[in-house]
Amino acid sequence: MNIRAMVQRTQEVFVLVYLTLFSKATGFKPYPKPSLPQVEGAAFCLSWRLAVEADNVRAWRTVPTQCLGYIETYMIGGQYDRDVDFLVGQILSYVNGIALSGDGMDAWILDVDDTCISNVFYYKSKRYGCDPYDPSGFKAWAMTGGCPAIPGMLGLFSKLVSSGFKVFMVTGRDEETLGQVTTENLHNQGFVGYERLILRTAAYKGQGAVAYKSSIRKQLAAEGYKIWGNVGDQWSDLQGDFVGNRTFKLPNPMYFVP
Ligand SMILES: [Mg+2]
Repeated sequence: MNIRAMVQRTQEVFVLVYLTLFSKATGFKPYPKPSLPQVEGAAFCLSWRLAVEADNVRAWRTVPTQCLGYIETYMIGGQYDRDVDFLVGQILSYVNGIALSGDGMDAWILDVDDTCISNVFYYKSKRYGCDPYDPSGFKAWAMTGGCPAIPGMLGLFSKLVSSGFKVFMVTGRDEETLGQVTTENLHNQGFVGYERLILRTAAYKGQGAVAYKSSIRKQLAAEGYKIWGNVGDQWSDLQGDFVGNRTFKLPNPMYFVP
């Protein structure tokens, strides 16, 4: 090694030692990672939402408070609608491959709340699920009959009816108190031509959704219906018995129905 190379090497070592001491003393990092607390918060909420949608988190009562803004943006900022439309595309490609029996017994099951009609305006007042479930508040909202159609799902509904499927609307809403207003709400939002709207009667009061909806589907199967598909925003719409040939879970990060 000649003199010139030795000098250069010594300079490099000094620079390294200087940088090490300097960064230790001041916290200075030559290549600092940007600090993005908003992104980190959104990253947590995305993990939470994915776990909830995949049914890996169950029986959760409220949305984590720090995710209020994230869930609001998700629900009304466009991504929820894109996710629903994407799923409707998947459902339609399945529907288009079905060869109907033509005996009038080809059936589909659709849940009602946050599957066909939306409660997002009500849940805005409940901080998108950061507040706990409020049965009387929800009932008062449902009584207004003002739930808007979820556009993609109204399109799917119309396609199912015009294709010759018998569509059964199955909801945990109480028949005695909400039967009339739910019928009117579905009608004024364009859900016309379904086979039957099935609401919760006194016989099912207090039952969990899985047991109640399984029992309804069992009766339909006993009547001879072939359930080709079943769409709901809750896993409890899609679990249990006679769930159908295919099930499709719509997004809902605002509440959990056991
Ligand atoms: Mg629902």
